Amino acid sequence: MTQRLIIFLGPPGAGKGTQAERYTEYKLLAHISTGVLLRDHVESRTELGLSAKEILDSGDLVPDNLVISMLQERLDALEESDGAILDGFPRTIPQAQSLDSLKNKIEIVAVVVFEVNKEVLIQRMLERGRSDDNEETIKQRFEVYKKETDPLIKFYKDNNLIYINGAGKEEEVFNELRKKLDPFLE
Ligand code: ADP
Repeated sequence: MTQRLIIFLGPPGAGKGTQAERYTEYKLLAHISTGVLLRDHVESRTELGLSAKEILDSGDLVPDNLVISMLQERLDALEESDGAILDGFPRTIPQAQSLDSLKNKIEIVAVVVFEVNKEVLIQRMLERGRSDDNEETIKQRFEVYKKETDPLIKFYKDNNLIYINGAGKEEEVFNELRKKLDPFLE
C-alpha cells in the first residue's frame, strides 16, 4: 500500500516540529522527525547515536547514508496509516532522490514550506535552549540550511507547494496550516 507523505521544509527554529506535532494529532497521521530519531539514538547509545553525537553538537548534517537507512527503517515500520509528516527529511538533494526511488511505495501529497525571518528564528532557538542551540551551532545550522536544504524548494517545484508564514503565534500558524493543507488530505 502507498504511504501518503507530507514534507515539512523550513529553517531551524521555524516551528516545523511544533506544527507537525499538532497537525498529526489533529489528522491522526504519523509524525516522523529525523532530529528526534537521531537524538533518541544518541540517548540510547546505539552505534548510530555514537557516531552522530559530535555531528549534532557541531550543527552539521549527519551523513546521508545513515539518515536514509534510519528513515527507511522508520517508514517500513509504519503501520497502515493515513500517512505521515516528514519533519526534517529530506534535508539534501540525495535524500530527496532516495525518497523518489520509493515511488511505488509513497506518494508526496504536499510540501509545506515554513517562512520566518532570521532574527525571529535566532531568538526562538536561544529561548528553546536544546543542547545544540548555542550561538555558534545555530550559525552553522543556518549556513547548512541555506546551502543544503533551501535548494529542495526548487527540487519540489512541480509538487503541491504550500507556503506558511511561520512568524506568527503558534495558533495563527496552525490555523493557516489547516486552511492550506486540509484540502490535500480530503
Ligand atoms: P532543527 O530543525 O532545529 O535544525 P532538527 O531536530 O530537525 O532541528 O535537527 C537537529 C540536527 O539533526 C541537525 O542539525 C542535523 O545535525 C541532524 N539532522 C536532522 N535531520 C537530518 C537529516 N535529514 N539529514 C542529516 N542530518 C539531520
